[in-house]
Amino acid sequence: MSIIKITDLSFSYLQDTPVLKDVNLEIEKGEWVSILGHNGSGKSTLSKLIIGLLKADKGEIVVDGITLTEETVYDVRKKIGIVFQNPDNQFVGVTVEDDIAFGMENLQFEKEEMLEKIDLYATKVNMKEYLKKAPHMLSGGQKQRVAIAGILAMNTDIIIFDEATSALDSITELKVMKSISELNEKHTIIIVAHRISTLKNCNIILQFENGEIVKTGTFSELYPF
Ligand code: ADP
Ligand code: MG
Repeated sequence: MSIIKITDLSFSYLQDTPVLKDVNLEIEKGEWVSILGHNGSGKSTLSKLIIGLLKADKGEIVVDGITLTEETVYDVRKKIGIVFQNPDNQFVGVTVEDDIAFGMENLQFEKEEMLEKIDLYATKVNMKEYLKKAPHMLSGGQKQRVAIAGILAMNTDIIIFDEATSALDSITELKVMKSISELNEKHTIIIVAHRISTLKNCNIILQFENGEIVKTGTFSELYPF
């Protein structure tokens, strides 16, 4: 059974301006999927629909056997961690540590496990010395690293990174990608990618254009040289 199944999904913000047009998509458990596409092609809209931040005009989203509706949205969200490009509005804590803990608190992790994970993932994203600092003092790239640590620590079945590494230099990005790929054995990962170099290890690449998937394939199928 696929962990995410999307059938004939359509969405528009404004009448007569469709942003997603009959998108069909099946993602298997444990897959690493990269989504590529120009600005405005509908990638973030798709991410928001999958976690129920937006409501589809038409079509169906099934996550791990649960059909997404107003009634099931909180059950679906327990299975998905998401990091957006601009994590500012994901920050609620007084310290970096609070922010890494936030998602785990929602999932009711034990205090001890939380502290262990904060330590582990802050180290993985190279932010350990910032744990007691105020999040608003951080640079854009540091904020992205904190947001990523918080989501990795939640250990959800599905993780979506929506251009979540866009403010990182390529060396830091590679490090973060390495942590992500270590997780990939058990988790399903969807990355809205912005650098081709991050695509090599994924199972499948989806190319978006104007709200439609126009190409699907592996890295070597789509970049055969
Ligand atoms: P991507 O993530 O691929 O850059 P988005 O999903 O953010 O694309 O946007 C797809 C289209 O929807 C764009 O044309 C964008 O301008 C439009 N759009 C995004 N958010 C809104 C909104 N809140 N209201 C109206 N239009 C929006
Ligand atoms: Mg986007």
